Amino acid sequence: MKLVSKANVYLVSRPSVDWEQVAAFLADEGVPPVPDSIRAGSDASNAIVEISARLCYMSYGRGRRDIADFIHNLLSSKDGSVFEHVNYGFVLTGVSRSLTHELVRHRAGFAFSQRSQRYVDETDSSFVVPPALAQDGEGAEEASAILEKALETATDSYADLVNALGSVIPRERFDSATDRRKAIRQAARSVLPNATETKIFVTANVRAWRHFIEMRGAIYADWEIRAVALQILDLLQKEAPLLFGDFEVSDLPDGTRIATPEFSKV
Ligand SMILES: Cc1cc2nc3c(=O)[nH]c(=O)nc-3n(C[C@H](O)[C@H](O)[C@H](O)COP(=O)(O)OP(=O)(O)OC[C@H]3O[C@@H](n4cnc5c(N)ncnc54)[C@H](O)[C@@H]3O)c2cc1C
Repeated sequence: MKLVSKANVYLVSRPSVDWEQVAAFLADEGVPPVPDSIRAGSDASNAIVEISARLCYMSYGRGRRDIADFIHNLLSSKDGSVFEHVNYGFVLTGVSRSLTHELVRHRAGFAFSQRSQRYVDETDSSFVVPPALAQDGEGAEEASAILEKALETATDSYADLVNALGSVIPRERFDSATDRRKAIRQAARSVLPNATETKIFVTANVRAWRHFIEMRGAIYADWEIRAVALQILDLLQKEAPLLFGDFEVSDLPDGTRIATPEFSKV
């Protein structure tokens, strides 16, 4: 039985700009050309925000001091809709089914693709150790032993159930072996715990990511999803500092961390 205690967070997709097409649009409209009008430099996320926001008033080449001032103004005035044009995608592995159940509750601006427990055999699946059990402290060994015993029982029950259902579910009722395997696994997964490791591809726009990080990076959030929210924030702050730089990360006495934005729910 494999135990996992830290999620892997991979930033796998990011925004890009077709500068030639932007230049063509600006030229056709007779407004100042790139780069004078679009002061975002080479950061595609900022550029997309500025191009989309300026289209509303056709204000290319006018206005704010620089891109930092421009984006700060959008955040502080909660003009968040232009952040919906900027998307980032992550692959998460080493996360539990309880984490992904919380993650998929986020609807606006999110897209998900998760490993199927009906198609994929879970006989050798890993389990995610809840962060509280990874802490050293009195009773930690006993708590870990209880968890491991429960997970071993679940693993054994899953394998036993797959075997037993092999006799219960007859081959002749299915068009394909795949359909029959799916029927067996979809029933057998009922004994798998929340701690079962899963993998998910999640894409969201900047407005949605900001809301997710605010909700799940807060003190009230579960420790596992909070840690992942902070890993995502760390990557996004490096990727798009102007769009995520107002989040402040602080340490709590319980050994966990939280993230708090200066601009809430833009
Ligand atoms: C600490 C914590 C504890 C929680 N506990 C529970 C719990 O016990 N039980 C439970 O069921 N859930 C619980 N949740 C989940 C929570 O209720 C939300 O479902 C989840 O956080 C997604 O938030 P959201 O709806 O704001 O996000 P999104 O779905 O991403 O939506 C973003 C925003 O878009 C707007 N929006 C989205 N959809 C609609 C809509 N249909 N109509 C109008 N406006 C919309 C809202 O302003 C919303 O805030 C908990 C969440 C947290 C952070």
